[in-house]
Amino acid sequence: MAAIEKMSGSDWQELDKEHHLHPFTDHKALHKKKSRIITRADGVYIYDADGNKILDGMSGLWCVNVGYGRTEIIEAAAAQMKELPYYNNFFQCAHPPSIELAAMLSELSQPQFKHVFFTGSGSEANDTIVRMVRRYWDLMGQPDRHTIISRKNAYHGSTVAAASLGGMKPMHQQSGMPIPGIVHVDQPYWFGSDRSLSPDEFGIAAARSIEDKIKELGADQVAAFIGEPIQGAGGVIIPPETYWPEVQRICDEHGILLISDEVICGFGRLGEWFGADFYGTKPDFMPFAKGVTSGYLPLGGVMVADRVADVLIDKGGEFFHGYTYSGHPAACAVAMANINIIKRENLVDRVKSDIGPYLQQGWAKLAEHPLVGETRMVGLVGAFELVRSKETLERFEEKQGVGTICRDLLVDNGLVMRAVGDTIVCAPPLTLSHEEADELLEKTWKCLDLTQEVTAGLQEDP
Ligand SMILES: *Cc1c(COP(=O)(O)O)cnc(C)c1O
Repeated sequence: MAAIEKMSGSDWQELDKEHHLHPFTDHKALHKKKSRIITRADGVYIYDADGNKILDGMSGLWCVNVGYGRTEIIEAAAAQMKELPYYNNFFQCAHPPSIELAAMLSELSQPQFKHVFFTGSGSEANDTIVRMVRRYWDLMGQPDRHTIISRKNAYHGSTVAAASLGGMKPMHQQSGMPIPGIVHVDQPYWFGSDRSLSPDEFGIAAARSIEDKIKELGADQVAAFIGEPIQGAGGVIIPPETYWPEVQRICDEHGILLISDEVICGFGRLGEWFGADFYGTKPDFMPFAKGVTSGYLPLGGVMVADRVADVLIDKGGEFFHGYTYSGHPAACAVAMANINIIKRENLVDRVKSDIGPYLQQGWAKLAEHPLVGETRMVGLVGAFELVRSKETLERFEEKQGVGTICRDLLVDNGLVMRAVGDTIVCAPPLTLSHEEADELLEKTWKCLDLTQEVTAGLQEDP
């Protein structure tokens, strides 16, 4: 191994291959291609070990909402680490950063949320919710209400309970998931349907699949419904406008708790503080993570509505659950500095009425490209669908890997976006400038052309 300061990109790649198991990675395939080593970042750009400058159209993993290189956040972490680098919130203790952040989050969210339970990640937030939801119904004298309804293709994290809540088949197939008491219904993915219904009709139908499941199980068995306001990792599935009001009606009518997974949609992504605000739902739980710290340090948590918190507090005694890093002081200090930036720079409003509409307008024009079957974007999160035929919206065969081809071309041309099958997804930092948005769109168009050249070759040679 070379001295660290002399390591080249390929030295890092070798060392990585020797010792490092990556999340969600086929290592054999990776070792053929080599990993991309990112060494630094600034604003909306990341830089790799070979010196390439790449526009980060994914905000890291949907989390760097305020962009990279924010001195204010870095200094907040350093100052907190000097004062109190660690202490726990167990055993009748607390510390100022966790208390202050809890109050701040309560202030930012809907009035029913006065309490926060901190975790280290979004997965841990959802594990917490599985336990809290069931504890709540036990305390309410309805111990049979243990089943949680989620959706196919949802992503709620990668711990056992969170992955069970998620609706990713390949994840379930690998480790005996889902755990008992978690069932999945249809996702509101109009483009992925047969499109025989209008989007509005389809939104109602998708919501009704929740009601059908409730009737099948019996409402007295159903504890909660969980959904991301917009499914992120599943391919930025933006539901028709009819969907969430109908879901809210169904939850209300059957007395079921509503969980709005805000891990991606929270902290300004949709041009409101939370996705629930955007869609007008009134959830009982909001798991959050990612954007709460813009990824500068790991932190997650659960906003708990009074309806639940009051029962847990008044009747529950000790709740045997918590993490060593629940409310880590440095992570909480970082979250507050991050939220202060979002407030001071009006980033939520900026997404709603400035950069959001600006990027959306350019994004919609990508639909004119012969390879694009649909575009969609809300706030600063969007997707487009690659299709073989614009007329019939017929898709490519999965094994052709056209989404991956397009994604690789994008990265080679200095823009990170992600491929979910043949859906290309985008979620840039909320600080994206108009010029950077133009760059993002120009690069995307160029790479669509390049992808088309490759797919033309694929079609001739089946
Ligand atoms: C990323 C994500 C999670 C999991 O968060 P981690 O911090 O990776 O555990 C949960 N829910 C949603 C919607 C996510 O996008």
